[in-house]
Amino acid sequence: MFVRLLIAVVWIVVAPIGLGAAEKEIGTKDRFEVVETKLTPIATALGKPGPGDWLANHREPGQTFAQYLRANPVVKSDRLTTMYLCLIGDFTRDQERVLKLTMEYLGLVYAVPVKVHRRLSLDKIPDEARRTHPTLGDKQILTTHVLDQVLAPERPEDALAYLAFTSSDLWPGENWNFVFGQAKLRQRLGVWSIYRNGDPSKDEDAFRLCLRRTLATAAHETGHILTIKHCTAFQCGMNGSNNLTESDRQPLHFCPVCLRKVCWNLRVEPVEYLTSLEKFCRREKLTDEADWYRGAVELLQK
Ligand SMILES: [Zn+2]
Ligand SMILES: [Zn+2]
Repeated sequence: MFVRLLIAVVWIVVAPIGLGAAEKEIGTKDRFEVVETKLTPIATALGKPGPGDWLANHREPGQTFAQYLRANPVVKSDRLTTMYLCLIGDFTRDQERVLKLTMEYLGLVYAVPVKVHRRLSLDKIPDEARRTHPTLGDKQILTTHVLDQVLAPERPEDALAYLAFTSSDLWPGENWNFVFGQAKLRQRLGVWSIYRNGDPSKDEDAFRLCLRRTLATAAHETGHILTIKHCTAFQCGMNGSNNLTESDRQPLHFCPVCLRKVCWNLRVEPVEYLTSLEKFCRREKLTDEADWYRGAVELLQK
């Protein structure tokens, strides 16, 4: 429930880095404009937010493609080529399956190799960065310890992002019960937990739900690391959300505006890119998502 808020805070305090490739293209028409124009007919407008929803509680302006370029985004490049994971704690067999699929999915969404850089057992986290929540009873690890002490000192040179995934619950410091995750955007670091995504061993539906939630968070938060802000244009994987109920309602796929940002960032060929995502979703029985990608590919080919 608090993860998006934390990310919003981190967003504000980080300073922009120096000139990047993005700035060179400002004001020019790019070859990915068709992604936005041709796919807009199948985008769904955001309805009026309900009382507990993200946009009812946060005034956010959204981010057009032009604004994205002006933000001097983190881009995939010859220097930043690979996504790395640090796996913290023990994962059940089914959680391992979810992880493996999430790695594959991240590799498709961000068109980079995804590698496990390190596995870390929970007993390597010092006592001061662990606790049992005094009333909820959940065993938790401290996000700031993971970001600053575990990830930051060992981020590989070529890491487009270095992300920790953990089976443990997380908390970010005083006055917080828990968080789903936290990121340091300009440092390209993040930590996310699958602890609250449901038990994937229960049955097939629970597995699918845990997978969907884990994929959604991974794609959304990595989108932030690539400087994509919360989307207010359409229903989109980059919409902000206040809680699991709200995020479960949101699609996995990105809307035409956010897809244009991703395609531009990664320099991917859109039809091939969207087809690879359709195939993944079809195979994993995420049928609504697969159908959306199919519709998008057909529109782009017209
Ligand atoms: Zn977010
Ligand atoms: Zn969007």
